[in-house]
Amino acid sequence: MSELPLPRLFLQLLVPRLPEMTQTLQRLVVAESPSLEKAVADRCAQLLSSEWRQRGARVELLRSKTRGDHVRAVVEPSAGKSTGQILVLGHYDTVYGSGTLRKMPFRIRGGKAYGPGAFDMKGGIVQALFALEALQQARVRLRKRIVFLWTSDEEVGSENSEGLIQKEARRSDAALVLEPSYGPKGLLKTSRKGVGFKELIVHGKSSHAGLAPEEGVNAVHEMALQILRIAKWTDLRRGISASVNVIEGGTRTNVIPDRVRAMIDLRALTLADMRKLEKQLAALRPESRGARIEIRKGSSRAPLERKMTTALFARARHLAAQMGISLGECSVGGGSDGNITASLGVPTLDGLGAVGSGAHSADEHLLLRTMPERAALLAALLASL
Ligand SMILES: [Zn+2]
Repeated sequence: MSELPLPRLFLQLLVPRLPEMTQTLQRLVVAESPSLEKAVADRCAQLLSSEWRQRGARVELLRSKTRGDHVRAVVEPSAGKSTGQILVLGHYDTVYGSGTLRKMPFRIRGGKAYGPGAFDMKGGIVQALFALEALQQARVRLRKRIVFLWTSDEEVGSENSEGLIQKEARRSDAALVLEPSYGPKGLLKTSRKGVGFKELIVHGKSSHAGLAPEEGVNAVHEMALQILRIAKWTDLRRGISASVNVIEGGTRTNVIPDRVRAMIDLRALTLADMRKLEKQLAALRPESRGARIEIRKGSSRAPLERKMTTALFARARHLAAQMGISLGECSVGGGSDGNITASLGVPTLDGLGAVGSGAHSADEHLLLRTMPERAALLAALLASL
């Protein structure tokens, strides 16, 4: 057995454990964990803590007043003295409110496991639990401390956990993110666009549209002009998009409106392009005399640039090849907590979690037979770093 290359050994250890992995997944999915319901999410955090404790990790619950408690599980290196740290990152919150299980129960059909959060991303947490077991069974000598951080608010923008993720990332030599992979082939996400949510408010002046149109400054007209400008910033070939996705304003058909609000979604693949978009937004000037433009910043995530992930991806592809698996990569438009770690200069590999589809929908599911492979890949990565 010891002559096998490690990735193959991990695979051999993990394939027979699929039934236990499935049971663990069921326990985690049945413990619902909506981002916005602290008491419910806290119960899931308790369950997670006990799963990690059972496997010998030192577990800390990081209390949050408004969101579920975050779970930090630490495994010390074999020599006792650490030569660095690896961060394994994910979230246990889901987009589904409590009670969703009644309409969308945990179930297995055709080799797929369905249920709220199964794919995004409780499957990834299960894979991490069993990767740790495989490392222990194979008696791998870990060189670095491994910190598994499971946060409770990724699906609502990670406002509460961001500082925590940054603190842990700064101490780490690499971040492995267990967000779902992409597509049926389980592509890793080697770049993610940066995201900026902004609010644009145009202030005009109201007046009677019939009696005194000359006294009004029409905020809707002004906003329309601004929207046309913003739409031109989109350059899909460069991975840049600027979309005005919500507008509201005006009161009555016969009243010239004095205020319109628009919500804008800005995305780019590089930090430089993201900055450029922000500059363009700040440089908007009104065209109508008397109109005023106000910009409010919403939440944002810096891009996960591909250069932050190249070396780790090459390593993962090499390890997967030793298991007979060809590992692909892709770029996605949505951000994750991997954007936070990468923007701090920490090499980051994202999309290492479950293989499946239907995230955030009634069809959410993962492919069960891929769980041992993915857990073996994570174990191999952790053993190699
Ligand atoms: Zn997720």
